[in-house]
Amino acid sequence: MGRKVLVLNQDYSALSVCSVPKAFLLVYMNKAELLAESSTHVLRSVREVFPMPTVIRLHRYVHLPYRGVMMTRQNIFKRDGNRCQYCGTSDDLTLDHVLPKSRGGKTNWDNLATACKRCNSRKGDYTPEEANMPLRQRPFKPSFLMFLRDFSGVVDDGWLPYLGAKEAIY
Ligand SMILES: [Zn+2]
Repeated sequence: MGRKVLVLNQDYSALSVCSVPKAFLLVYMNKAELLAESSTHVLRSVREVFPMPTVIRLHRYVHLPYRGVMMTRQNIFKRDGNRCQYCGTSDDLTLDHVLPKSRGGKTNWDNLATACKRCNSRKGDYTPEEANMPLRQRPFKPSFLMFLRDFSGVVDDGWLPYLGAKEAIY
C-alpha cells in the first residue's frame, strides 16, 4: 500500500493522509510545509536526496464539509471486525438497521450494525431488546485516528504529536 503522509490543515488539525509523492509535490510547489520527516528513509532523484515527509501542513485553510470515515458497507464491516454483532459469525454478512427503518431508524453510523443474514431476518422489524438479541457493541462513528489506522495499516509514530490529544487516546 505504500507509505502515507499525514496532512494537517493550516490550523494544525489533522485533515487526511496522502501518498509520499503527493506530499512531496505539495511541499515542492510551496502549497504545504514539511513538519516532520522520516528518520529512516529519504527520497532520491538522480542527483539529489530529499527528506521523506511524514507530516505536512497546508499553507491555506481547507474547508471540508465532512471529515472522517466514508460510510460504506465495507467500512461498517471493518469497524465491526467483520463479525455479526448479534451472534459473532463472519459468514454471510449484511447490514442491519438496529432501530428498523420501518420504525424511523436512520441509515447512519450509529444505527447500522454488521449482521449475518440469519440474524437479520430473525430480528425482522424489532429492536434488539424486543427480539432479545443483544448487540455485542453499540454502533458508533469511527474516530479519525481509527480511520487512519484502517486506511494506512499503522499510524506512524511520528504522527502522534500532531494528532489531537483527544483522538490519540482512542
Ligand atoms: Zn448472526
